[in-house]
Amino acid sequence: MIYNRCGKSGILLPAISLGLWHNFGSVDIFENGRNIICRAFDCGITHFDLANNYGPEPGSAEENFGKILKLDFTGNLRDELVISTKAGYLMWPGPYGEWGSRKYLLSSLDQSLKRMQLEYVDIFYSHRPDPNTPLEETMMALDTAVKSGKALYAGISNYQAEDAKKAIEILKQLGTPCLIHQPKYSMFERWVESGLLDVLEESGVGCIPFSPLAQGMLTNKYLKGIPENSRAAKSTGHLQTAEITTERLKQISELNEIAKQRSQSLAQVALAWLMKDKRITTVLIGASSVAQLDDNLACLNNVNFSEAELNQIESVLKS
Ligand code: NDP
Repeated sequence: MIYNRCGKSGILLPAISLGLWHNFGSVDIFENGRNIICRAFDCGITHFDLANNYGPEPGSAEENFGKILKLDFTGNLRDELVISTKAGYLMWPGPYGEWGSRKYLLSSLDQSLKRMQLEYVDIFYSHRPDPNTPLEETMMALDTAVKSGKALYAGISNYQAEDAKKAIEILKQLGTPCLIHQPKYSMFERWVESGLLDVLEESGVGCIPFSPLAQGMLTNKYLKGIPENSRAAKSTGHLQTAEITTERLKQISELNEIAKQRSQSLAQVALAWLMKDKRITTVLIGASSVAQLDDNLACLNNVNFSEAELNQIESVLKS
């Protein structure tokens, strides 16, 4: 494993982190999730990313993760892990169960800690900006989370460049620097390149792109139709079959040819492509099997691209 410094902080994160959005909920096979997490840790993945609502059912990924920690991470292993959770999306009924109020964020963190049977998380995120709550209130809640010892660091997710800049500044004034930003970023989703990455670099904040494989589209799995057990086929999966258009499939197929030239899988190329930018601290993958995890981890064997390869990729993405 390669470990990268997160922005200008003291924390090193593995080049690949594992997220528990899908595949670790109460609808999934517990032992499969357990095997993936143990394998990840054995391969040097020290960072596991959760959120209050991951499942389904919401909350069940945290519950299962807590169980796995109790079963397999005994002794002092907690100190070898960086565990994150978030609050922002709908979690419970009524006016206090989503968005960015102090009430919601701090109650949600308490619930997450209970579900995971933890005393603290390493990173607590505001999962999305709330247009109707003052940014100061949301950032003060993160600051309280850190100062109360329930989180070690604060993070933000899904904030556009301008809001991110303001949030980072407020956190700085509060004395709780923003550690990291978690945006959606992949070959197919590149909004961060027009502003956000510059803001993060200037502010010394790390970046952890989520859905780096575009939920599985940036692999070879959809080239011959939609496989039965894939995310696109599952009713609980967030990948819509409508996203897998003929144009997308053409791009995927061409990218797959480039991957073959590099003797890599398409998943490996998609992950390495993100890592070429030194502002990226770690890429946050998902995996539904140990085999996928192993495939993805092997991207670290070749993270360099020639100018010609980058141009080739660029022309496919622009087509
Ligand atoms: P990816 O883009 O890495 O997609 C993961 C999925 O792709 C897997 O579950 C699997 O799907 C498929 N896959 C992975 N590796 C391979 C492979 N080598 N070959 C073939 N198929 C593969 O990431 P996710 O969308 O899962 O997101 C990762 C994490 O990011 C989440 O768990 C979460 O922690 C975070 N996240 C954060 C969000 C936010 O708002 N902050 C929003 C979304 C995610 P299949 O089931 O088809 O096998």
